[in-house]
Amino acid sequence: MESSEISGDLTSVLLTEKQILDKIAELSRRIEADYAGEKVLLVGVLKGAVMVMADLARELKLPIDMDWMAVSSYGSGTKSSGVVRILKDLDSDLTGRKVLIVEDIIDSGLTLSWLRANLESRGAHSVEICALLRKPEAAKVDVDVRYVGFEIPNEFVVGYGLDYAEKYRNLRDIGILAPHVYA
Ligand code: 5GP
Ligand code: MG
Ligand code: MG
Repeated sequence: MESSEISGDLTSVLLTEKQILDKIAELSRRIEADYAGEKVLLVGVLKGAVMVMADLARELKLPIDMDWMAVSSYGSGTKSSGVVRILKDLDSDLTGRKVLIVEDIIDSGLTLSWLRANLESRGAHSVEICALLRKPEAAKVDVDVRYVGFEIPNEFVVGYGLDYAEKYRNLRDIGILAPHVYA
């Protein structure tokens, strides 16, 4: 990892940049097959999904539009509040659009099940989800995620867009945050 100051904050590297980019390429081939000949609206969920969005959008050989939403469910802690608030809404009209939500991670799944219902209610033709990471808790809620990069253990991870109190987003790898950092 980048600096010794930051590597002291991590228990270990869970996924390297190479593993992440290989997985995004693999997901892109599936998405291209599923949406062949169609135009997709990628909806990135700020801020965690910026890196996934940037790499996925450039890897996909499909016509795409990009839009962004910011929702809040976590604050700066490590536990889901279950309360979802729109901080920044989409600029696009979703009527008839094929929407693919791009997310960094699914933990409780509360954010995504709320978000999908919200976007569906705006008249989208379809709303699917692509999430780079999924934690075991997500199995408990009924949210159908078509594209999942990695199933990861129930640890708090940072890097590649994922933060703790706005820090670590710029790490290229994804690492497990050492408990002493948030204890
Ligand atoms: P959920 O509603 O699925 O519990 O939470 C989803 C959001 O919580 C994610 O988009 C992300 O912002 C945050 N989150 C969940 N688990 C982690 C984690 O391990 N690390 C980080 N940095 N954020 C997480
Ligand atoms: Mg997110
Ligand atoms: Mg966060």
